[in-house]
Amino acid sequence: MPQAHAPRPIAVCLLSGGMDSAVCAAEAQQAGFDVRALSFRYGQRHGVELEAASRVARALRISDHRVVGVDLAALGGSALTDDIAVPRDRDLEGAGVPVTYVPARNTLFLAVALGWAESLGARDLFLGVNRVDYSGYPDCRPEFLRAFEALASLATAAGSERGVRFRVHAPLIELSKREIVLRAAELGVDLSLTHTCYAPRLERGPVQACGRCDACRLRLKGFAEAGLSDPIAYVPPENERP
Ligand code: ZN
Repeated sequence: MPQAHAPRPIAVCLLSGGMDSAVCAAEAQQAGFDVRALSFRYGQRHGVELEAASRVARALRISDHRVVGVDLAALGGSALTDDIAVPRDRDLEGAGVPVTYVPARNTLFLAVALGWAESLGARDLFLGVNRVDYSGYPDCRPEFLRAFEALASLATAAGSERGVRFRVHAPLIELSKREIVLRAAELGVDLSLTHTCYAPRLERGPVQACGRCDACRLRLKGFAEAGLSDPIAYVPPENERP
């Protein structure tokens, strides 16, 4: 009998449906991990994100994709879960935490990912935070990720009894949106499957991204700077409506 290959180590990867987490999951695979994907139904106003996450998981041939419900809308405080207007055409260099911040979201998501990882015997967590995020969102900063690793070792039986050191990988943390678009092309990630917009138009036919929320504008800027065109559909500008 030929010796079987050693199984690849398992990693739990947060998958939102956006392009950052799609590229992050592909990076984890490229690094040799058997990726399991985790998404959340957290009370976000649109289900299109989760549909995108499913498409990405299938395209990457991820064997196990779980969707966990956590109703953050019950708490409020974010334009992504409440009836607060999503800002449009905002100065992207503007300081401060944006209204699209969901209170303590990454702490909560990583905690659930940690629980799944421990039950799978895995010690590696991946999330797609990047240079753009950590300028505005406190739970995307490297200090936060290192602090979560320390917590993970204390919070789990694997860590406290068997000395397992969990790692939170953020392979995109130094990358701009331009670099993420280019990396997707290198890794063969199909960005037409992803969804980024905070305020999509859903009424008629296929989903159209607004092109004006922070997320759309950062995405479009990334594609433009990479010299590529974004394959997803956008709402046509009013004066160009056919
Ligand atoms: Zn948008």
